[in-house]
Amino acid sequence: MINEPSTPQRLRIAVVGGGYAGTRLARSLDSVADVTVIEQRDRFLHNIAAIRAVTDPSWLDRILLPYDTLLPKGKVVRAEVTGVEPGSVTLASGQKLEADYVVLAPGSSYALPFKPAKDEGHVAYRRRVHAAHDRLRVARAVTIIGAGPVGIELAGEIKHAFPHTEVTLLSAHDRLLPGYSPRLDRRLRKALAGKGVHLKLGHRALDGVDALEPFGPATVHLEGGGTVAADLVFAVGGATPNTGFLAGTPGVELGKGRIRVDEHLQLPGMSHVYAIGDAALTADTLTIGGIERQVPYLEQHLKGLIAGTGGQTQPYQAWKSPVIVVPVGPDGGASQLPASLVMGRWVTRLLKGRTLMVGKARRNLGLGAEV
Ligand SMILES: Cc1cc2nc3c(=O)[nH]c(=O)nc-3n(C[C@H](O)[C@H](O)[C@H](O)COP(=O)(O)OP(=O)(O)OC[C@H]3O[C@@H](n4cnc5c(N)ncnc54)[C@H](O)[C@@H]3O)c2cc1C
Repeated sequence: MINEPSTPQRLRIAVVGGGYAGTRLARSLDSVADVTVIEQRDRFLHNIAAIRAVTDPSWLDRILLPYDTLLPKGKVVRAEVTGVEPGSVTLASGQKLEADYVVLAPGSSYALPFKPAKDEGHVAYRRRVHAAHDRLRVARAVTIIGAGPVGIELAGEIKHAFPHTEVTLLSAHDRLLPGYSPRLDRRLRKALAGKGVHLKLGHRALDGVDALEPFGPATVHLEGGGTVAADLVFAVGGATPNTGFLAGTPGVELGKGRIRVDEHLQLPGMSHVYAIGDAALTADTLTIGGIERQVPYLEQHLKGLIAGTGGQTQPYQAWKSPVIVVPVGPDGGASQLPASLVMGRWVTRLLKGRTLMVGKARRNLGLGAEV
């Protein structure tokens, strides 16, 4: 056991994962409980800006952020969690860390280098981004497999940084971001066309779809015939929940790889254990938008339980219509805001395109303004 026994006044909360969800929740509870964040990496990666870091690695200095100031009272332990049971989590070392409440926020993995590899340190991650950048800089033709938000943003960033590079964006769907308003699709198509991106909708790639790293030169075959040749191919098909360590755990149910939760974000089979973020099976999309709702909800719930006044009485409600901000380069793009309001480049640039929300990420970690 590596932490002290609790006093009745200060309960212990273990947060598994120091990504967007885990850090925000941990910081919000630091004044009312003994909070420990267990995170396998040595830096927080503000991965919203990782796409631009591939086209301009100077952004790396701004997006790999230390955990030192996250918790004025609590602590961040660098370790991999390998198990969870009521009242404790187990670390890869075999140590158990006892807790009155456990919050699972292990998030998701993504194609490299848009998130780091499993427990990759910041030095190795920097090298990985620079290596991708070096390949990108000399590529004359780039193909992107997958026109989700990351694929769209990547196409826009590449055309902004390297206007003469041919960029082809492939999607198996016949419209962009099918889960969102058709107006968003139209605006984004226009923005991509304006940048000179070749958009191939309704074209399923047959090669390299699951590639974890950029590869090439390669010829990508398309279902139904046709090929696209490229010096460099990025496959950005989507996120994979980091829940392998929970498979087979009594009391943990996984659905589509995500952790099943009840209406209070608690695991139905394990009381006092909750899940939030990309790894939790809520009706939210795998975005920060979902976290913006889940964290305040669980914060209030746990604060009520800790104070003895009772948790939330209302069930958690995901966004009714999902929100998303999709820059196409620093000055272009389109966004869908609450109530399905679709906005164009000015709002997108203001919300995200220019600054990529670095200031907010720093504030969430207790860091001051950039110098
Ligand atoms: C390139 C890119 C750009 C994106 N841009 C946007 C955007 O602009 N807007 C938006 O809303 N969403 C965006 N997203 C999605 C967004 O990043 C995710 O929704 C978000 O990362 C989810 O946060 P999280 O805290 O749940 O998980 P994560 O951010 O994945 O964090 C989970 C953390 O848990 C740690 N961890 C995992 N397992 C263990 C373990 N067993 N032991 C210890 N630690 C562990 C991981 O190391 C990681 O630090 C983007 C995603 C990508 C890949």
